[in-house]
Amino acid sequence: MTPERTQSVINPATAESIGEVPLSQAADVDAAVRAARSAQPGWAATSPSQRADVLARWAGLLAEVREDLAATATAEMGKLLKESLGEVDRAVAEIRFMSGEALRADGQTFPSARPGTLVYTTRVPVGTVAAITPWNFPIVAPVRKIAPALAAGDAVVVKPAEQSPLSALRLADLLQKAGLPAGVVNVVCGRGAEVGEALVNHPGVDAISFTGSTGVGRRISRSAGERLIPVQLELGGKNAAYVDAGADVERAVAEIVSASIQATGQRCTAISRVIAHESVADEVSARIAAEYDALSVGPGTDPVDVGPLVSASARNKAADYVEGAIAAGAVVVTRRTETPTGPYLAPTVLDHVTPDMAVAREEVFGPVLSIIRVPDTDTAINVANDSDYGLAGSVFTKDLAAALAFAGEVDTGMVHVNHGTASQPHVPFGGVRASGLGPYSIGHVAQEFFTKLKVVYVAS
Ligand code: NAP
Repeated sequence: MTPERTQSVINPATAESIGEVPLSQAADVDAAVRAARSAQPGWAATSPSQRADVLARWAGLLAEVREDLAATATAEMGKLLKESLGEVDRAVAEIRFMSGEALRADGQTFPSARPGTLVYTTRVPVGTVAAITPWNFPIVAPVRKIAPALAAGDAVVVKPAEQSPLSALRLADLLQKAGLPAGVVNVVCGRGAEVGEALVNHPGVDAISFTGSTGVGRRISRSAGERLIPVQLELGGKNAAYVDAGADVERAVAEIVSASIQATGQRCTAISRVIAHESVADEVSARIAAEYDALSVGPGTDPVDVGPLVSASARNKAADYVEGAIAAGAVVVTRRTETPTGPYLAPTVLDHVTPDMAVAREEVFGPVLSIIRVPDTDTAINVANDSDYGLAGSVFTKDLAAALAFAGEVDTGMVHVNHGTASQPHVPFGGVRASGLGPYSIGHVAQEFFTKLKVVYVAS
C-alpha cells in the first residue's frame, strides 16, 4: 500500500497516531458496492433463522472483546472509557434485538373485496445500503445500521467517520468471525467529501442511511431525491429541557447534568438548552453550576468525569460559542476548571442566555449548557420550538397538565417527562425537521427503511 493511500488515526487525548487505515478512492467504493450487490441475493435467500444466528454470534463476539473494543473507541475519538464500555453494551443489546427482528418481519392481510382472492403485504429487502456514520458513537452508529440491514437480508457498504474507522473495521472483522458470508458487509475508509460522496452517488446503492450533521444530510437528501432512492437521515439536535415551577429541582439537575455532559456534550441528544421557570431559575442555575464545577477533566483513560473534544477545531468552535454568548450578554456561572493541554474545554454554564443568541440556536457539540429564563409553560414551549432542530425535549414538572402540554406541543421526535434524553435499545429513535428525515431507527420501526413493502393479490 502506498503512503498516500493510507491515513493516520489520531488519539485526541495524546495527539499520537494509533493506527493507519487505507484511504479509499472512488474505485474502492465501486468495488465495495459491486461486492455487496453480488453477495446480497445469496444473503437474502438465507433463512431468517440463519440471519438471526449470525447476528446473535456477532453480539456474543462483541461482548467477548468488550474491553478491547471500548479501548479502541476511546483511543480514536476520546470519550471516557466507561462511556465506551457502555457503548459496547448498548451495541450488544441492539444487535440482540435485531437478531430477533430477522424472524419478526411482518405484513398485513386484508379482507378482499373480490371473493376468492387473498390480499396481503410482505416485506422484501431494500437491497444494498450505504451506511455513513459519525465519530461520536463509533460502535453504536455502524451497528444501528448494519444489524437491521442484515436482519432484513440487505448488504451494506459502511463509510465510518475519518476520525473513527478502527472501531468500524473491528466490527466488520467480528462479523466475519460470526460467519457472515464475504461481501455482505464492506467498509470503505476515507474523507466524506470524496469517498462518502462517491458512495452516495454510486448507482448501485439502493438506499442511504446517514447519521451526521444536518448540512451533510441535506446534501445527501438532494442526491438521493434525484435518484428517488430512500434515505434515513439522523441529524443534529438543539435539545431543550424545561424545569417548571414547583419541579423537583435536585432531581431535574441530576438528569440534566448527566444528559448534557456525557461524551463531553458531543451527543445528538445532549441537552444544551435549559429553559427555567423564573421562580426556580436561580436555584437551577446555582445547582447546575455547582455540579459542573465539581467535574474533573482529562484523558478518557483516566478516572475523570469529562474527556477531550474530538479535535482542536471542535474545541475551538465550542469555545467561540462561549465567547460569542458572553459578548452578547450571557453570564458564565461556572469557574474555569483546570484542563490538560490538548482539545479540552472547561465545562461551562451560561445563564441569562436569550433565544436569539447563536449559542441557543446552533449545535455547539461541547460541554456548554445555556440557561434561558421564562415566565410560564407556554413561553417555555415556544422557546423550545424556536429552533430549526426537533430531536429530543425534556420537561421536569410535578404538574400533569404542564407535562402533557409540553409532551403534546413540543415539535421533537422524542419527549421525556422527568427524565433526561437517554434512549433504550428497542425503542424507536429519531427526529423531525432539521434533526431527521425518513423512518426512525432502533426497534421494530427500522424495518420501514431496511425493507420494501410489497402488496400481493392471489386469486385462486
Ligand atoms: P458529519 O461531518 O456530517 O459526518 C458524518 C459522516 O458523513 C462522516 O462519515 C463524514 O465523513 C461523512 N461525510 C462528510 N461529508 C460527506 C459528503 N459530502 N458525502 C457523504 N458523506 C460525507 O458529522 P460528524 O461531525 O461526524 O458527526 C456529528 C454530527 O452527527 C452532529 O451534528 C450530531 O448531532 C450528529 N449525530 C446525529 C445522531 C442522530 O441519531 N440524530 C447521532 C449521532 C450524531 P468524514 O468524517 O470523513 O468527514
